Amino acid sequence: FNVPVAVNEPILSYAPGTHEREEVLRAYQEFYATQTAVPLYIGDEEITTKDTGEIRPPHDHQNVVGTYSRAGKKEVKKAIKVALEARKEWSKLPWEQRAGIFLKAAELIAGPYRARINAATMVNQSKTVFQAEIDAACELIDFLRFNVEYMTEIYAEQPESTSGAWNRLEYRPLEGFIYCISPFNFTAIAGNLPASAALMGNVTVWKPSDHQMLSANVIMEVFKEAGVPDGVINMVNADPVMMTKEVLGHEDFAGVHFTGSTTVFKGLWEQIGKNIHKYKTYPRIVGETGGKDFIVAHKTAIPQQVATAITRGAFEFQGQKCSAASRAYISESIWADVKEALGKDLESITMGSPGDMSNFMTAVIHEGSFDKLAKYIDAAKKSKKAEVIFGGGYDKSEGYFIEPTVIVTTDPNYETMETELFGPVITIYVYKDKNWEETLKLVDETSIYALTGAVLSQDRYALSQATDALQNCAGNFYLNDKPTGAVVGQQPFGGARASGTNDKAGSKLNLLRWVSPRMIKETF
Ligand code: GLU
Repeated sequence: FNVPVAVNEPILSYAPGTHEREEVLRAYQEFYATQTAVPLYIGDEEITTKDTGEIRPPHDHQNVVGTYSRAGKKEVKKAIKVALEARKEWSKLPWEQRAGIFLKAAELIAGPYRARINAATMVNQSKTVFQAEIDAACELIDFLRFNVEYMTEIYAEQPESTSGAWNRLEYRPLEGFIYCISPFNFTAIAGNLPASAALMGNVTVWKPSDHQMLSANVIMEVFKEAGVPDGVINMVNADPVMMTKEVLGHEDFAGVHFTGSTTVFKGLWEQIGKNIHKYKTYPRIVGETGGKDFIVAHKTAIPQQVATAITRGAFEFQGQKCSAASRAYISESIWADVKEALGKDLESITMGSPGDMSNFMTAVIHEGSFDKLAKYIDAAKKSKKAEVIFGGGYDKSEGYFIEPTVIVTTDPNYETMETELFGPVITIYVYKDKNWEETLKLVDETSIYALTGAVLSQDRYALSQATDALQNCAGNFYLNDKPTGAVVGQQPFGGARASGTNDKAGSKLNLLRWVSPRMIKETF
């Protein structure tokens, strides 16, 4: 299997005066100057419907920069039909053809589409240029490249044969179509959910988030130009309840590739269960869902490192990562120093529009998210068990801006120690040094989710104690680091418990869910 060796796409600097900075700013302004109408992509058609949604930048919600079409039942049915039609050829295509198409897509993003996909992510999802570059450009490119390499590793795994009997595994795509549902927070995930299933020979019906339609549109432009045949990836926005009912009610539904909330995922699982007698095959259910990700600092941790882990883990990307640190347990003896360092870190945080590249943070995604965060911040301000020590301000007059907020609580079971907020708010519980082991037990007991977690300590024994005690609390576990920033090809990503099926995005494990191997034995 001769394919290019996958390497991580280098992150561009966007420093003043660079070509990439000028280009991305131009593309950003262009999205403001033109009204984009995002169609449905079904087979060879780009369909515009009467039922449309508005595209508004979260940092500037008075502005409308475009619209997206919403499908009715008729279009959803059509998308499934054309996907199944396209499957006939796509599932038979030699793997080199599929690999070539997605490698080309990676190159298109690395080159001519880089500014456009980043700018779309900045405008519609309110990411800074650096956040967009890491997500929409580099991570998506990495997913596409590394998955090609993983695919060949899968195909290479073959059983032993003898001279009289030739045993071979044929890694067939699933029999039917795959339903992909992607979140607003990562353009890379949105592209990867359909692309990874399609790479393995499957056809897909993809529903992006209402809050990511600009970059979803650019992803479709890239797929089309790269040569993904019509009908292999159909992009359909629609009322989620209606669409899911249609899709999951179809006999050829063969799997769901999901990233989003725990509640929605459990609902999908339930519906699939109810429909199980309708299906030709047992559907694959793959989901990455919520998180309540922790930082645990031992008394031997370096205070500045703990502060940096909190600042970067909780507030980069506006805290809108499944992996974002949202609760921390800090030992009493280092707390004063951590607090001082954290205060200094937070003073330097700038917040505003992504159009101003000096900003470290921008707005949260929509009013619902803003109101929820504001509600929990207000409750903490009033609570006897909690205190807001940094931030706590919010303002939605222009955009949905929430200050990076640190709550300290005296109650380890305080609401924001357990509820996922999905925004720039972290809650800290200060524990007594002598209660180290009890604290690890507490973290385990309160980990309803188990996506990411980080432990900081200079004591090797403490690290190994934590690694052992927190074995089931995180699918991505970090020692002396922040709990975010998994890189494709380096740290395959995913969690267990209420955080998902842990099929590790960007890995062989994930791609294996999209094949149904046939064992062929031929005797001579
Ligand atoms: N892979 C990302 C990280 O480790 C998080 C992805 C997500 O939020 O779903 O930071």
